[in-house]
Amino acid sequence: MIPRRRIPLEWTDLKEWLVTPWLSPSGAAEAVSGFERAFADYLGVGYARATASGRDALGLILDGLGLSVGDEVVIPAYTLGELLPLLQQRGLRLVPADIDAQSFNVTADSVAASMTPQTRAILVVHLLGAPCDIRGICRLAAQAGIPVIEDCAHAPGARVDGRAVGGFGRAALFSLEATKAVSAYGGGVVATNDTALAAYVDRELAVRPRREWPAMKKALLTWGEELLVRCPLYGIAARILFSDRMAGRFEQAYRGANQRARSRVVAFSGFQARVALRRLRQLDERNRRLNRLWQETAARLPAGLVPQQRDQSGDPAFYNLVARFDGDVRKLRRAAQARGVDLGILGEVMDDTAALLGDGRCARVAQLHAQAVLLPLYAGMTPARLRQWLDALQRAVGAAA
Ligand SMILES: *Cc1c(COP(=O)(O)O)cnc(C)c1O
Repeated sequence: MIPRRRIPLEWTDLKEWLVTPWLSPSGAAEAVSGFERAFADYLGVGYARATASGRDALGLILDGLGLSVGDEVVIPAYTLGELLPLLQQRGLRLVPADIDAQSFNVTADSVAASMTPQTRAILVVHLLGAPCDIRGICRLAAQAGIPVIEDCAHAPGARVDGRAVGGFGRAALFSLEATKAVSAYGGGVVATNDTALAAYVDRELAVRPRREWPAMKKALLTWGEELLVRCPLYGIAARILFSDRMAGRFEQAYRGANQRARSRVVAFSGFQARVALRRLRQLDERNRRLNRLWQETAARLPAGLVPQQRDQSGDPAFYNLVARFDGDVRKLRRAAQARGVDLGILGEVMDDTAALLGDGRCARVAQLHAQAVLLPLYAGMTPARLRQWLDALQRAVGAAA
């Protein structure tokens, strides 16, 4: 079975893991500030601060900007659903902005349509690595005198007019989760030019204990999970876990376990900083290589599968290849599984936050959520494997029609 997702296992991470016990507390602190400086320089922003996760980074930004009970915030209708509790537990009133059917991103028009005189902030996401119309949205925000928060979890290295995303709004969050482009086996980054916000984040981070073990344990678990995905029996397990009956429950349990692992908030560790710095240095090359693969693959998709349009407002980074399928995605997934290819559908791709909020005004997101298909594309995909799954997908589309 060709899995829909694979996490690259780098031997140098293992080396970092083995030398970490010899890292002194001051050495760890130095590694973290070195990574933060490199990340800020890469983005061209004043401050980057490493956090426990992308979610943690978002929480710090919301609190640092003083957003609280009753404040209205525009959010993307298509993004990670687990961000909602984080916003709701602060008592924010959430208004989803619908997406564009081609780019899957919010647009300046859809954000404008969701704004009211009570709007206090706009959260946008550069979805699947493709920049949204951040310039247009920042103009709207400037007119209203409110901040834009950029969710760059999918998009480190994406650029608009040559400038990295994450430096356009008041603040940005990045994720250093193992599944994201710059992995630190968990972690996140707050990026901003706002001195007061950076000072707030520094005060919050300063009181957290720095321990090496939690991230080292997470690295072991990630390696274990990845090795399972690569073992021959995985095909059988995947067909059971991702069957129509089990898939929803499995996804929920998996996300629940990840959520619990994130609830223990500690400082970013020296091990994480060293792993992430290496990934950051490789990021542009990685994006170039995988974007090329994305383009070649998108051009060869079977008729009936339309890939995300990614060149609408800038140069994308690589995260995932997602296409919309004009048909029954469950049927397509079953047909693909029977031919040795695992696809992601529905909540495995992204969530319809409008539906989660019970807001019926975003028609396009409901349609995309029902049609989106996550295709297997990642580092380490050989041309032969690519051909293999494209062929299988072609037959699956025929069978699902
Ligand atoms: C992964 C992700 C995050 C949060 O990252 P974590 O590090 O997992 O907390 C935020 N937004 C989006 C869209 C994501 O995919």
